[in-house]
Amino acid sequence: MSHITRRALLSASACAAFAVRGGAAPADPPRPSMPEMLPVNHDLHTHTVWSDGAHPLDLHILEARAFELDAMAVTDHFFPGMKLHDKPEQFDAYLGEIERIRSAQSDVRVIKGVEAAALDEKGTISIDARQAARLEWVLCDLGGKTEGVFRAAPADKAALRDNVLKAYMGLCDVEYLDAIAHPFNTGNLKPAVLIEDYGEARLRELAQKMAEKKKVFDVMNDQIYWFSKCGIAPRELTAQYVELVKIFARAGVRFQVSSDDHRTGLGNTRWSRIVLARAGVPLRQVVDATKIKRV
Ligand SMILES: [Zn+2]
Repeated sequence: MSHITRRALLSASACAAFAVRGGAAPADPPRPSMPEMLPVNHDLHTHTVWSDGAHPLDLHILEARAFELDAMAVTDHFFPGMKLHDKPEQFDAYLGEIERIRSAQSDVRVIKGVEAAALDEKGTISIDARQAARLEWVLCDLGGKTEGVFRAAPADKAALRDNVLKAYMGLCDVEYLDAIAHPFNTGNLKPAVLIEDYGEARLRELAQKMAEKKKVFDVMNDQIYWFSKCGIAPRELTAQYVELVKIFARAGVRFQVSSDDHRTGLGNTRWSRIVLARAGVPLRQVVDATKIKRV
């Protein structure tokens, strides 16, 4: 059905309802309002020109101050092919620059982080313990570097799904990992793996391990980006993601919100907070980013 036909149909049925009731025009569908969103004021997953973000660090931090965030983590990419990973002196310079700019102000707590990558379906991570010890917040995602999931992946959906779950289980064992970045970002894979494809029992098993190993679940605002090629309706993705978050919340997992900003979306966590609120996540299960320890 084309978009126009569907619109025409909806408006025809709205008119019919109006005619039958003979009363006031039908109300607009409910829209998320502030009370439906958790009052969380951090952004724990953002990028700068130190990897593939748009803005230099000084502008990035200036924006975080302007937006009156309480806390923000700079989490540039750290995997083979990126300068922070490949050149130790660049990693030193990155940490030095964050330290210099953050200590020149007191408006926002700026956290030194990176986003590492899982390199395979066993959950081998792209950063070692010695490098991680210099950071305050280490994220890891499944992405273009993950063998068995995003590259050299099985064509069979069940096998692909199993690899995703296995990778997350493996990441839980990485002691120095703090948070899993935008979990289940698998909608653009071929074949697409949707949230509902994972099955509740397997998700509960992972949720239990994440809670036990204290791995934080990153509810990243732009999850639709990772589902943009599979045709899922945005609100259907939201509904499935809310159910996913419920499973992890019940197991006691803690959450963070983030923009995964690359292009000035810093601090935009509207969707993340809608999801947490609809899933009924209590505030005590959301990371207090102002208390993340400095190194
Ligand atoms: Zn990212």
